[in-house]
Amino acid sequence: MRIDTRLAERLKKVSPSLTLAITSKANQLKSEGKDIVNFAAGEPDFDTPEPVKTAAIEAIRAGFTKYTPTTGTLELKKLICAKFAKDNSLNYTPEQIVVSCGAKHSIFNAVFSLLNRGEEALIPSPYWVSYPEMVRLAEGVPRLIPASADNNFKVTAKELDKYSGPKTKILLLNSPSNPTGCVYELSELKEIAGLCVQKKIFVISDEIYEKVIYDGLKQVSIASLNSEINELTITVNGLSKSYSMTGWRIGYLGGPVDVIGAISKLQDHTTSNPNSIAQKAAVAALAMPDDTIKAMACEFAKRRDYCVARISKMPKITCRVPKGAFYIFCDISQTGLDSMAVSDRLLEEALVSLIPGKGFGSDEHIRISFATSMQQLERGMDRLEDWLKKL
Ligand code: PMP
Ligand code: GLU
Repeated sequence: MRIDTRLAERLKKVSPSLTLAITSKANQLKSEGKDIVNFAAGEPDFDTPEPVKTAAIEAIRAGFTKYTPTTGTLELKKLICAKFAKDNSLNYTPEQIVVSCGAKHSIFNAVFSLLNRGEEALIPSPYWVSYPEMVRLAEGVPRLIPASADNNFKVTAKELDKYSGPKTKILLLNSPSNPTGCVYELSELKEIAGLCVQKKIFVISDEIYEKVIYDGLKQVSIASLNSEINELTITVNGLSKSYSMTGWRIGYLGGPVDVIGAISKLQDHTTSNPNSIAQKAAVAALAMPDDTIKAMACEFAKRRDYCVARISKMPKITCRVPKGAFYIFCDISQTGLDSMAVSDRLLEEALVSLIPGKGFGSDEHIRISFATSMQQLERGMDRLEDWLKKL
């Protein structure tokens, strides 16, 4: 068999995840004793809350270790519905919910269930690293829409209109955004919703950073705006970021019954249910008062302010103040280097690990994650500053 026919065509155009590759390289170097400051990680550094861990241990002891319904337990889905109602003004019933193995899995399921071969997905760029690759896996076509830094990296309904055509099927929307930290406002979402309803474009609304939001802002779920956009929206969320539960792999989505039916079939024949023990842990997390989440967001806000203040005094680098998530997307065009060169050299010469913007669609930026301790942030910022001054 010839080498180029051994693998499925659909994988040939797909790239590995740069975020995961660099994060694991940084962790590997650290475990080898290298004094790396890790600004790459896309996960909170806080521990999973104690009641969540206890619930998981109790689940194991009680023998809650068998298959559950594919789409998740009714107990968990009811709590997810209550969360959607309370936080997002969304009135989903448990039949409209699928719990999956992380929000990444939920987004993939939605993309795979909606796109036919050759159909297009609108993706505002900079984008989260996995969106275009998921579209390619579904044999769809990613249509990247450049979002201007002057508009805080947000796309307008007008721009979406310009890029949509007869083959456009979905829009991947992420607010608060990874990597830019932008947050779409109500008025902007209303216009985008109007366009999507007019053109019958489905919206996959990735709201995973909903609770990591600053300056008194509130995240708005596009599906809550009216019944027409509700019928076209799949709302994705999860526990990874808000409850510091990245390793537990619980994400979920809510959406119209027909789409949920398709996703449920897909999950029936791929993963079946998400881990039963993690589902019990998720029940405990969703039952917790919001204090823990608020305390984390408060701590992230302090770190954001510190990093932005430091970066604003450094040469050859500029940034905007992120309104949500825990990343700073920095413009490094004044260095005269591309983003891969900056991240490679920073790792080698300054022992600072971060993600090149290339993975998010911009070679003129780097992504700094401030999901690490203040002490690490101070050390990393000192190193970044020294490196830039010597450049
Ligand atoms: N969406 C975005 C924008 C993310 O940054 C992440 C981070 N991993 C995810 C989805 C997926 O989260 P998870 O699969 O850990 O729930
Ligand atoms: N979403 C995180 C990030 O952007 C985690 C890594 C990943 O899932 O790709 O870094």
